[in-house]
Amino acid sequence: MSALVLDGCAIVTMDGRRAEFGSGHLVIDGNRIVAVGQGSAPASQNYAAARRVDASGCLATPGLVNTHHHLYQWASRGMAADSALFGWLTELYPVWARLDAGLVRDAAAGALAWLARTGCSTTTDHHYLFPRQGGDVLRATIDAARAIGLRFHPTRGSMDLGASAGGLPPDDVVESLDEILAATQCAIEEFHDPAPDAMLRMAVAPCSPFSVSTGLLTAAADLARRHHVRLHTHLAETADEDEYCAEHFGKSPVEYLDSLGWLGPDVWLAHAVHLTDSAISRIAATGTGVAHCPTSNGRLGSGICRTRALLDAGVSVGLGVDGAASNEESSLHSEVRQAVLMARASGGAEAMTVRQALELATIGGARVLGREAEIGSLEPGKLADVALWRLDTVAHAGCADPVAALVLGSRPPLEMLLVNGVPVVEQDRLVTADEDQIAAAAGRASTALAGPAQGPAGLPQDRRLSR
Ligand SMILES: [Zn+2]
Repeated sequence: MSALVLDGCAIVTMDGRRAEFGSGHLVIDGNRIVAVGQGSAPASQNYAAARRVDASGCLATPGLVNTHHHLYQWASRGMAADSALFGWLTELYPVWARLDAGLVRDAAAGALAWLARTGCSTTTDHHYLFPRQGGDVLRATIDAARAIGLRFHPTRGSMDLGASAGGLPPDDVVESLDEILAATQCAIEEFHDPAPDAMLRMAVAPCSPFSVSTGLLTAAADLARRHHVRLHTHLAETADEDEYCAEHFGKSPVEYLDSLGWLGPDVWLAHAVHLTDSAISRIAATGTGVAHCPTSNGRLGSGICRTRALLDAGVSVGLGVDGAASNEESSLHSEVRQAVLMARASGGAEAMTVRQALELATIGGARVLGREAEIGSLEPGKLADVALWRLDTVAHAGCADPVAALVLGSRPPLEMLLVNGVPVVEQDRLVTADEDQIAAAAGRASTALAGPAQGPAGLPQDRRLSR
């Protein structure tokens, strides 16, 4: 790693003062930011040999932080296109039962490449499907993230409540409690890096109240806390889930997790759409974080997260693309735009500013993952995760406010994405891996996963031919 100077760009720092610079500089040494400010970078003997980038016409923001994803779903996009969550899951579980490590690696590479191309420098992954003959699928996602170069927070997910035991998934896609706990412990011991500049941190993530047993939720929380890693799950996503929890536990989803000692500052919840005022108070009081996934919530017709109420209560909120099977676009840039639009559509024009939306995708997401001291803002001493967006093309040139251009406009070309000081994207192309090869492999993975009864696009034969 060497020194790099970005000069002449607008800068949104997301630091404690929310400082912005109309035409500023950013100096990076190794994997850290060493200077940021207005005007040209000061001349320094220390950086005489630095690479200098003329960043005029661009906006620098912190690299975006994605707090919820299922990378493997990149190979099952476009299926159950008009279904709600439970019907969508029921159609897709048998498809996902065919996953193996090779398919997961190719799918994950596609998802990660697109995240990088759309400004995301840190992503989590919630992987909860481990087919018996599928090989080491968790390692496959980690290999893909290392190859692309994103900062990665994989979770060892799990499901142990098959249909015969009252759960939603078919029995052949769930594991036993003992298998899950042993594999989760191994994954933490092998992969988790607690260092302050870590490129990989593990978390523990039972899938959802309707696919895991109470015993698994309790044991998973205990395991995570013994190993000082974070806890994650889907919660309060749909009205169907509310009904399921009322019927099986006599509680709301939040009351159910709370009764198991699950809520806390080491926990973040995906979705959190169906929340009462008292549930929001409880999430806030326990310091629990939320991954807001507006596109997926819209795609599945799940509802609209009460982001304004969560933020007013002091809850840490980040954004998530969710899996590509319920968000075919899977771009965190789009989630920023969707977050503003959904908040305003339900709560009025004051419900969220464009800067607050960008905040959710940067320092907000960093907080949700427990990394606000290291990433999520552009300040001296922080890790060099930077997105440099080009705002001088026909799509954005002349837009009065660069933040409004980024948040409300279409996705700008990404001039550069730095992760840990290393260029991952330059001039809107991935530079750490071959995009065309990734696309071809992801296409083959989708065909294989669609199965023998399906065509290349995953469509039944008659629909493919009738176009
Ligand atoms: Zn999800």
